[in-house]
Amino acid sequence: MKFLKLTAIVILSISVFACGGDEKKSDKEKVKIGTKKQSSTTEVAKEIEVKVTGNDLMQFNVKVIRVKEGQEVTIVLEHIGKQPINIMGHNVVILKQGTDISAFGSEASAAKESDYIPNAGKDVIAHTKMIGGGETTSVTFMAPEKGEYDFICSFPGHYGIMQGKFIVE
Ligand code: ZN
Repeated sequence: MKFLKLTAIVILSISVFACGGDEKKSDKEKVKIGTKKQSSTTEVAKEIEVKVTGNDLMQFNVKVIRVKEGQEVTIVLEHIGKQPINIMGHNVVILKQGTDISAFGSEASAAKESDYIPNAGKDVIAHTKMIGGGETTSVTFMAPEKGEYDFICSFPGHYGIMQGKFIVE
């Protein structure tokens, strides 16, 4: 008797499921979408390392750096040239949104004593130290909120050519 009752319930629920209304269907879809989102979130790496090189021709090897919001970003800067720091110094400086690159660049030129980072870094999200040929340095920081940011080398006269976009997705 108990068994029969259970079978009846099972059959009943199968038939409800089989000819389930639109409401049921959309519920199912919602769950599916939710599950998908969750799994793609876990696929995003917590940390990302970005390698950037600078050379004696005043060039970065990348124009665009892409990271994800909330990632711990490490930028490794390698100076692949031979010129010393006082002639061909390079760094990577990520500027806060709304910062005027030219204005920042000229202020940076006059800020040698603070490694070419002016105003105690108030316009800066993150920066590496300045290095010369053959040297490597790195900086680690949390990716800021989604958006597009500028990155430059703040050595005097370099920002015009040595600049690119730091994009947080
Ligand atoms: Zn430079």
